[in-house]
Amino acid sequence: MHELSIAMQLVDVAARAAEDAGAERVSVVRLRLGALSGVVRDALEFSFAIVAADTALAGAQLQIEELPLVIYCVPCARKATLVGISSFRCPSCNTPSGDIRQGRELEIVGLEIMGAGVAQQQPLHP
Ligand SMILES: [Zn+2]
Repeated sequence: MHELSIAMQLVDVAARAAEDAGAERVSVVRLRLGALSGVVRDALEFSFAIVAADTALAGAQLQIEELPLVIYCVPCARKATLVGISSFRCPSCNTPSGDIRQGRELEIVGLEIMGAGVAQQQPLHP
């Protein structure tokens, strides 16, 4: 399962960041998930809980911010937010665009670690 290996990387990165910060436990992991990341949210949450057990992240909450697909439309000279990921066409003028400005994110944007509040930003590249 794709999400299981991602969860393992997430836990790994977060545990290392917590260790660097001198924390013993991570209580919250904040994650940004783009519409094009190919990750099934439920499966990721499920995998995360399993992988996190017996680590510094045991029982940690996974807070996921889902980001829609955003393209840049040249004729309109502006960015456009798309509802789904089936079409890469501007919702205003219907011009297709391959200029993706948002939607591929899969990154940890913050951790809450025990005794130290919010830690650092930690990008993740699967
Ligand atoms: Zn347009």
